[in-house]
Amino acid sequence: MPTTFTLLPMRSLRLALSALVALTLSPDTASSQARKVYISVDMEGISGVNGDNQTSAAGAEYGRARKLMAEDANAAIRGAFEGGATEVVVNDSHGSQRNILPEDLDPRVRLISHSFKRHGMMEGLDSTFDAVIFVGYHAKAGSPRGVFAHTGSGVLRDLQINGLSVGEGGMNAFLARWYGVPVILVTGDDVAVEEQKVTVPTVRGVVVKRAINSRAVELRPLADARRDIQDAAKAAVATARKAPPERLARYTVRMAMRDPTIPEVAAAFREIRLVDATTMEFTRESMPDAYRLIRVLYRFINTD
Ligand SMILES: [Zn+2]
Repeated sequence: MPTTFTLLPMRSLRLALSALVALTLSPDTASSQARKVYISVDMEGISGVNGDNQTSAAGAEYGRARKLMAEDANAAIRGAFEGGATEVVVNDSHGSQRNILPEDLDPRVRLISHSFKRHGMMEGLDSTFDAVIFVGYHAKAGSPRGVFAHTGSGVLRDLQINGLSVGEGGMNAFLARWYGVPVILVTGDDVAVEEQKVTVPTVRGVVVKRAINSRAVELRPLADARRDIQDAAKAAVATARKAPPERLARYTVRMAMRDPTIPEVAAAFREIRLVDATTMEFTRESMPDAYRLIRVLYRFINTD
């Protein structure tokens, strides 16, 4: 039966080829992959947050702010799932890191809450994630404009990693890159979004408010801002591509402080070098190590 012998393999080959073409061209291919998305949520850059309501003191203003925080997070979560996320983890990243009430949050996600966390705003991130989103971020310390511009606890004048001045978004991007997880979206005021592009040139940004200076702000309508966050998260997750981990040989961290007492105390650690009266420097061989020490230095030295 020579005809059967020739026909069957030909048909099998055609089937295999069409399956291969379908696999390559199908728009569903990307979204059918597991997409684990990490969302770090700060408060100063949340839509509608305009000042005193971002402190963790009890009160009606704070109560409003934590609801607003959950709403922007939920917009990003909805978008992430629409873009193909199969798993989303949210990390509460502001102040006490216990701002978002779990009952206010999209029921599909897990919430990392409260401090102390060794990796702070990035606690729980590892190389199993496919993408990182920053929600509610703000400008770095020393920015002349930017709603409540600061870095970390507010004791820093400037933070540099390998000579590059960074804020919280920049420092967190260095850590994400160590794990090979791309930062795909940042939301916040216009200054925060611009600053993020220094460390992540490809990042999408959603500007939810315009900083007039470091306090005054022009807020966008809440519904518009949240719709833009959702749309951007959807597009960013749908097109996210993991990168190989970027692990530099060393991370040299320079911290310029407002108060000279902090470097003076910190110099008790043998590896801390004093650059001048208010500036200290150290070197670590991994970004997670460097990250942990930065947090200890800006959080736990009490100079009272
Ligand atoms: Zn912050």
